[in-house]
Amino acid sequence: MLHIGCHLSSGAGFLSMGETALSIGADTFQFFTRNPRGSKAKAIDVEDAKALMHLIKEHRFPCILAHAPYTLNPCSAAEKTREFAYLTMEDDLKRMEYTPGQMYNFHPGSHTGQGAETGIEEIAALLNALLKTEQTTTVLLETMSGKGSEVGRNFEELAAILEKVHLQEKMGICLDTCHIWDAGYDIVNDLDGVIEHFDRVIGLPRLKAIHLNDSLNGRGSHKDRHACIGAGQIGLEALTKVINHPELKHLPFFLETPNDLDGYKREIALLRSLYEG
Ligand code: FE
Ligand code: FE
Ligand code: ZN
Repeated sequence: MLHIGCHLSSGAGFLSMGETALSIGADTFQFFTRNPRGSKAKAIDVEDAKALMHLIKEHRFPCILAHAPYTLNPCSAAEKTREFAYLTMEDDLKRMEYTPGQMYNFHPGSHTGQGAETGIEEIAALLNALLKTEQTTTVLLETMSGKGSEVGRNFEELAAILEKVHLQEKMGICLDTCHIWDAGYDIVNDLDGVIEHFDRVIGLPRLKAIHLNDSLNGRGSHKDRHACIGAGQIGLEALTKVINHPELKHLPFFLETPNDLDGYKREIALLRSLYEG
């Protein structure tokens, strides 16, 4: 069974996202915990969160994936910016406990000239201040395309962050196919090699989710512009191999392609038809 969903707007609440997912043939979804620009979050509607948990159980969703605002920068040279990232993520993780046992993904951030090593230290320090033994949420670092001074541009940088985190069991990785292609990993001609490299450097058990996106740009472009499935430079054939790879096929896949709901519905149907049980 292919576990697949897409990014949904959280405006209408938790239950509504679950119902929307079902209506487009998805069995999971991703959503922003708050406005992606990082503004104040709405108060949690406890009953709505419970209703979603009921739907998830009834329809056997795998984990759902929350995404932190992408404007947060946990490794900025500016202390105020790092502090804002910490406070926002701290609040997000408290809120996540109303939908227990799910996943929370964030971008490691941009070191803004301090160097990747300092950035890695700061991200790990933030995680060590943030993670609690009693939390039920798994926190994921996303693989990045390496535009500007982004940290997480290769598997080694992500491994270096994870190594410094004390509560390892609370952590995982979300692999974005557009981002790693743009970062230079050849998932078109050497998917096996890329997966072996990931396993050697980070370890496959740490891989918890896949962002399934095509890319507008060429390998190594460091651009991060998503394309619809089959409409970019990765292509349908390579992405079909990704969903069917023996080391990946059990994971939940999340589309972040430029689509409306109908477009997502079509992409999900297409990928389900190409999935080899
Ligand atoms: Fe992301
Ligand atoms: Fe992504
Ligand atoms: Zn992206």
